[in-house]
Amino acid sequence: MPIDATLPYDDSNIFARILRGELPSKTVYEDEYALAFHDINPQAPLHILVIPKGAYVSWDDFSERGSDAEIAGFTRAVGKVARDAGLVAPGYRLLANVGLDSHQEIPHLHVHIFAGKPLGPMLAR
Ligand code: AMP
Repeated sequence: MPIDATLPYDDSNIFARILRGELPSKTVYEDEYALAFHDINPQAPLHILVIPKGAYVSWDDFSERGSDAEIAGFTRAVGKVARDAGLVAPGYRLLANVGLDSHQEIPHLHVHIFAGKPLGPMLAR
């Protein structure tokens, strides 16, 4: 079910539980500001999720309430994960769903990194 991204942060969400170590993840990168791990249901040959460590519902929430250090740290982490995976030359896609119309399912900000094949048009037609 898609979530309403205007609701307050709910710290029982799956990604909050991964950050607390209550659920496992296949981690590819971690630093002070971000955790990156493989999506459990990959939609491309490589499908990584990058999440901020802070409690933010969505990109909208993060860009409004996140500190400059958190925003810089998270943004740099997304780029580092892509570079370290060797994705700059072949290319990759970043996607962040926000709220109902985008079908955001987990109410903790996450950036999808899709790669590993030509990804086709940006949206289904
Ligand atoms: P979104 O629709 O943008 O909210 O995407 C949520 C993503 O989280 C989907 O691609 C799911 O496959 C993924 N996902 C759900 N549970 C887990 C989990 N426990 N570990 C890794 N990825 C997950």
